Amino acid sequence: MRLKFYELADAVDAQNNFEKFPNIELSGIEFDSRKIKVGDIFLPLKGERDGHDFIETAFENGAVVTLSEVEIENHPYILVEDCLAAFQKLAAFYIEKTQVEVVAVTGSNGKTTTKDMIDSVLSTTYKTYKTQGNYNNEIGLPYTILHMPDDTEKLVLEMGQDHMGDIHLLSDIAKPKIAVITLIGESHIEFFGSREKIAQGKMQIADGMHQGILVAPADKIINKFLPNDQEVVRFGPNEDIYIDNLVEHKDYLEFEVNFLDTKLIVPLPGKFNATNAMLAAYVGKVLGVKEHDIRSGLENIQLTKNRTEWLVASNGADILSDVYNANPTAMRLILETFQAIPENTDGAKAVVLADMKELGEESSKYHEQMITAIDPDKIDRLYLYGQEMEALVEYAKDIFPKGHLKFYRKDDEVDELDELINDVSNDLKANDQILLKGSNSMNLSKVVEKLL
Ligand code: ATP
Ligand code: MG
Repeated sequence: MRLKFYELADAVDAQNNFEKFPNIELSGIEFDSRKIKVGDIFLPLKGERDGHDFIETAFENGAVVTLSEVEIENHPYILVEDCLAAFQKLAAFYIEKTQVEVVAVTGSNGKTTTKDMIDSVLSTTYKTYKTQGNYNNEIGLPYTILHMPDDTEKLVLEMGQDHMGDIHLLSDIAKPKIAVITLIGESHIEFFGSREKIAQGKMQIADGMHQGILVAPADKIINKFLPNDQEVVRFGPNEDIYIDNLVEHKDYLEFEVNFLDTKLIVPLPGKFNATNAMLAAYVGKVLGVKEHDIRSGLENIQLTKNRTEWLVASNGADILSDVYNANPTAMRLILETFQAIPENTDGAKAVVLADMKELGEESSKYHEQMITAIDPDKIDRLYLYGQEMEALVEYAKDIFPKGHLKFYRKDDEVDELDELINDVSNDLKANDQILLKGSNSMNLSKVVEKLL
């Protein structure tokens, strides 16, 4: 970090007489006192514990200044009303000071994947830095900004929203040059009330932009929230940018896009990853990355955590694991992908679906509707797990022959995860293929572990 004590004090509107402290060079900022290194700023945040209790430890570990909401003795400090707000102001100041060019990514699904792909494309040509893991909220985003290496030219930031206004705040801090919305889905609908409200929330990504480019899906639901002072590029069939000649292989995708001459290859399954990759390619093109570099950036993509991955079970069966996150759009797409893959000779196809969380009042409707995404001709065994999935059982039992559909409870009284694990692993033969999808808290990763 390139920052002096008085710059910090000015950026966060210090309320004490900071000039009595020396205007030294600061090297970093941490809210976890155990991570403090010599020369760092300590940031006491209020979580389960109050960070102010750790100020002493932070100084023992080498901190040279702390932010604080109360006056303190014996150490250099900067008095502010609210440490989190100060952290955000500092990040906004740092964006302005460094003039780094920001690409922001939001959307109900595909944020992390698209962020990683954009970084992979841009890093062929520029010094880049990106959101580490899933640090996409009001703490993670400023943290990312204040941890970028000094020579960063392009910064790729993931922006998540739980509540209305979250993205406004993040965009205002980061002032993106290019903003990408991957998808308007149904995540966190229980806090927003409707898909339209979700759309409105996501569109706030343009709030901090100045003469930028917004890349957004063709989805009509966003039309009335479009900014009129930014360039808007829509994606989807027959739109400004689109995918052509997509061929889905088992573990890679091959396709063209209307704005490049070269064919693109992405070493990941799932049609949605072609969309994510197209968005990354487009950002690359806008920022001047050469076509062959865009291509190689996507071919060599390293994902933060591969959310959708093919694994091999201990008995040789193919596992398509997508167990970290689930909502209706994502579940439909992965079912479509899985069902389109040819069966292995002598093999069967099995699917395990578990509850999708945080869908609010309409939750059982969303689960029920999943029946339209399931093709009993393509799936030999269906395992449904969880309280919400019970709504789907009612419909599935009409289209699946007896014995091919199994249901496992998980509610306040019973959890049949162990039965599910046993049945799935006993039923799975060497030539089978199996898809697992559900919200993280449903613990399908335990089923995957057992199969491995
Ligand atoms: P989170 O809200 O957890 O941060 P995210 O938006 O960062 O999620 P990813 O981690 O990139 O999303 O992907 C999560 C899952 O969403 C993937 O495993 C896949 O099933 C699905 N997915 C990814 N991209 C898309 C897309 N463009 N459209 C729909 N679904 C997608
Ligand atoms: Mg993410």
